[in-house]
Amino acid sequence: MAKRYLGQNFLYDPSILRRIVQVAQLSREDLVVEIGPGPGRLTRMLAEKVKKVIAIELDDKLFEELKAGLAEYKNVELIHGDALKYSYENLPEFKVVANIPYYITTPIIFRLLGAKKNLISVTLTLQKEVAERIVAAPGGKDYGLLSIMVQYCTEPRLKFIIPKGAFRPVPRVDSAVVHIKVLERPSAFVKDEEFFFRVVKTAFSQRRKMLSNSLKSLREDIKERLAEAGIDSNRRPETLSIEEFARLSNILLKGY
Ligand code: SAH
Repeated sequence: MAKRYLGQNFLYDPSILRRIVQVAQLSREDLVVEIGPGPGRLTRMLAEKVKKVIAIELDDKLFEELKAGLAEYKNVELIHGDALKYSYENLPEFKVVANIPYYITTPIIFRLLGAKKNLISVTLTLQKEVAERIVAAPGGKDYGLLSIMVQYCTEPRLKFIIPKGAFRPVPRVDSAVVHIKVLERPSAFVKDEEFFFRVVKTAFSQRRKMLSNSLKSLREDIKERLAEAGIDSNRRPETLSIEEFARLSNILLKGY
C-alpha cells in the first residue's frame, strides 16, 4: 500500500523515466542526489549513467526493499532519512534528479537553492501548476515569490508534462518535469539577498495592492523610493521584473 501522507505516487513507465534522465543531461563523472527513490526504478537508470547516486528515502519499508533490491549497484549510497534535513552543503559538485514527494515541493526547492554553491542542476518531477509558477514570466497570475526565488539564481525550463494516469496510485493533479540550471552569477545585482527576498515577499503578500500600499510597512517614504527606482507606485507586484525588484531593494536598503 502506498502511503499518501508521504507523497507516494510511483512512476513505472520506462519511457517516461528515460525522458527524465535525458532532460537531466548526465555524464559519467556526475554525482546525483535522488530524493525519494521509492521502488528505485529511476535510481537504477541513474546508477547506470553516472559515477555515484546518493538516494534519500524516508519510508522504513521502502528503504529496506531498496537496500535489498539495489545491493548489486556499488555506486548507489542509500540514506535512510528526511531529504529536508540532509546536508547538501557538504557535497562536492552535484546534480539532483527526483520525482519528489509533493508535500515538500517548496521547502525542498528552497533547501536546494540554499546549497547552490556546489549544485549544478535540478531535474524535478512536480505538480504541473508549481512548475508553471517556477518558470512564469512577469505579468501573469503564476508569477510570484516562487518564480523570483528560483529565477534569481537559476534558469528553469518546463520540459514536458506527465499526465496523472502515468503514476500509481493516480494522484489528483498532472505533473511536469522541470530542468533548473543553476547560474554562475545571480540574474540581477542584489546587495543583500535576505532583504531582497523580504521586499519581494512583502509585495506579494498583498498581490492585488499597488506597491505604494503593500510596501508601506517597509518604508514610510516608499513613494519617493519607488520614484527613485524609476518604478510607478501604482504598479502591482506581478508586473515587476527581477531586475526591478533588485533595483528597488538596493535603494530601500539605504537607511536600514
Ligand atoms: N521516485 C519514485 C517515488 C516517488 S514518490 C518514483 O518516481 O517512483 C515519493 C517518494 O518520496 C516516496 O518513496 C516517499 O516515501 C519518499 N519520501 C516522502 N517524504 C520524504 C522525505 N521527507 N525525504 C525523503 N523521501 C521522502
